[in-house]
Amino acid sequence: MSTAAASYGPDLSRGERLDALFAELAEITGQRNALDGRIVDIVAEIDGDGVYGLWGNTGCRSIAALVAWKTGCSPRNAETVVAVAKRASEFPQCTDALREGRLSLDQVGAIAENAGDGSDAHYAHLARSATVTQLRTAISLESTPDKPTPKPEPTRSVTKSEHGDHTTWKITLPKLDAARFDAALGSHRDALIADWKRDHADRETGQTPPMPTTVDAFMSLVDAGWDADAAARPHGQRTTVVAHLDVDKPAASLHLGPLLSDEERRYLLCDATCEVWFERQGRVIGTGRATRTVNRRLRRALEHRDRGTCVVPGCHATRGLQAHHIVHWEDGGPTDLDNLVLVCPYHHRLHHRGVITIGGDARHLTVTDRRGRPMTNASLARPPTTPPPAVAPYKGPTGERAHWWWYDPFKPNPPPTTN
Ligand SMILES: [Zn+2]
Ligand SMILES: [Zn+2]
Repeated sequence: MSTAAASYGPDLSRGERLDALFAELAEITGQRNALDGRIVDIVAEIDGDGVYGLWGNTGCRSIAALVAWKTGCSPRNAETVVAVAKRASEFPQCTDALREGRLSLDQVGAIAENAGDGSDAHYAHLARSATVTQLRTAISLESTPDKPTPKPEPTRSVTKSEHGDHTTWKITLPKLDAARFDAALGSHRDALIADWKRDHADRETGQTPPMPTTVDAFMSLVDAGWDADAAARPHGQRTTVVAHLDVDKPAASLHLGPLLSDEERRYLLCDATCEVWFERQGRVIGTGRATRTVNRRLRRALEHRDRGTCVVPGCHATRGLQAHHIVHWEDGGPTDLDNLVLVCPYHHRLHHRGVITIGGDARHLTVTDRRGRPMTNASLARPPTTPPPAVAPYKGPTGERAHWWWYDPFKPNPPPTTN
């Protein structure tokens, strides 16, 4: 590695050496800003093509996760890149300044993340002298439109509407019931997040399953209710989801419920806790539990071999792992150690939806994305082969103390009135 700084020589005074180092810093920071501008343009192009962009088949859960993975930067830094990419066309002056090395990614990021519509020129001007912190303060001073007046308190109700592949419940509760519901949901979410952090802290990659959400907390609450119910009635059966599978088609439906898609059926049959009734011409012929489900002993052996983590590279999930049949059970794949791997629910669903492929055998596993490229943890970074961008040195914001009482915050133009 070259150490240009050392070449300023010992014959320079301390002040001269510092000046030379600052000059070099300004030059390469300008180049870095311009390169960040190019990264933003690349990300905008990857993200901009169609509903899921060009990245929809990479197995990543978000464009920010993809950026963090491919560039080896932190998730926070990736969010900044994505925020600028998403609003690049709204902030042409600010993003041009980034491309030309005159503003830093963090300066333009602070603007793109929170500034109001139509404020491009205002902040492009302010950012010439304002630091990132000062920009954030300036943006927080923007006037916000008045909030609508709250509606009267709703009554209690649960309504359900089905829309093909999903169902929406609308639950309306008075304040006190809502507070109990919130507290229960919050405690389950905290527990799930604590587990998630234990598994993934400090080693987040593009393949890390998403942070548990309120929906996960809700399902955890449902499971806890079921378990308590089964414990209270020890001779009773654990309430369970029942699916019917027609062995000749193959097609499956939920008990008294809708038909399942191919991917839902395979996912359910893989390592499901649900009860499956096998049928031929509408008549039950067995439950097939013995050959399909993974017993305790096999499960222990599987956990030992896969070290108790999801086998997808870059995923470190250890909780709620499922046993996946590499050759699918309904295609004759056996329920034995060589045909099973542990995966987290997130990657298991991704596989059965065809976004990633888990192939080979359990000892020589290959995990590929939709285009067949092997998935690894590594970033794309490599030594440059082209010269750095030819842009002017970046002098940085002046860093002067801000005099906010003289500052005129950005005010959006009032919407045109029709009367
Ligand atoms: Zn599976
Ligand atoms: Zn996983």
